[in-house]
Amino acid sequence: MALGQVRVDSNGAIEFPYRICIDGHGNGCLTRVVTHIHADHTLHLDKSIVMSRRIIGTPITIELLNVLGYNIPSVKAVMLNYGDAVSFEGAKLRFEIAQHIPGTAQVVLHDTDFTTAYTSDFKNPGAGTKIIKDADVLVIDATYGDPKYSRVNEEQIWEEFIKMVKRLLTVAPVAIYAYYGKAHEVMSKLREAGIDAPFILSHHHWKVNRVLSKFGYNIRDIVLYGSRECEEIKRDGWFIEFHHTILFKSFKTRIGLHHIFLTGRFVKTIIKLNEGNCWIIGISGHADFNELMYYIDEARPRLLVVDGFRSSHAEKFAEIVRERLSLRVVVSP
Ligand SMILES: [Zn+2]
Repeated sequence: MALGQVRVDSNGAIEFPYRICIDGHGNGCLTRVVTHIHADHTLHLDKSIVMSRRIIGTPITIELLNVLGYNIPSVKAVMLNYGDAVSFEGAKLRFEIAQHIPGTAQVVLHDTDFTTAYTSDFKNPGAGTKIIKDADVLVIDATYGDPKYSRVNEEQIWEEFIKMVKRLLTVAPVAIYAYYGKAHEVMSKLREAGIDAPFILSHHHWKVNRVLSKFGYNIRDIVLYGSRECEEIKRDGWFIEFHHTILFKSFKTRIGLHHIFLTGRFVKTIIKLNEGNCWIIGISGHADFNELMYYIDEARPRLLVVDGFRSSHAEKFAEIVRERLSLRVVVSP
């Protein structure tokens, strides 16, 4: 293998040797890896399902893809647990844990003399996310690769958020708009904080939750939006609804509810919108600038490839890493 065989193509596929493509479809890709279910990591998956020989993901990811409407034939689906490896053509592909949303995996490929790795989306390196050390090539997600993205204290944002939800619930019910995975994190934080109001889940969040509960991510007192139980709960007027973020625009005008939009973008405080009963809060699933630097400094790859498809700060970030950590860095594409 050679260093140049690893790149991110213009359609967002991370290409590894042995005709492996990750989180996007590349021409001639025989093995498609899906690191997690977010939309920018399931690019052209339908194409890979047709054209590739195998689709590899963690058991949670493969099951979630199936309930979200992807039709992965069981002969092609390979479920790989953290720490386990599959072998083909003399190479071994292994998953390591990443803290992002349930099921997220980092990818490590070895053959006799070469190791290639991809971090996928992650936060909390060295604790929730395992650091992959001494790879020949490491591809990294640098969503927050600009030093201006240094997190205050995430716990503080969670505390403010929980306080706000408690206060709002005393007045009227609350609707929360969040991506899959993020919604789960929010639900468990609210329960941990002692908020007992029933959770009403949209159809898709409900299906995702059913898969997650199979894997031990349990949330109590949830009902399906539109069910008879849901109607009874609505009459009581004390509940929290969960919807996908795409519904915020059309649902936020409903009266008698507080609307909270959860973004993965970098918002340091809670923002109250001028119109209606709407708030925006940022709780990111990504490493901030300092966490990125920490991961790389611990990992010390021979070559670092910064994913320029999923970050608009890739060039600036590459420059900083070259300067401060004296590593070889390229941006791709
Ligand atoms: Zn993601």
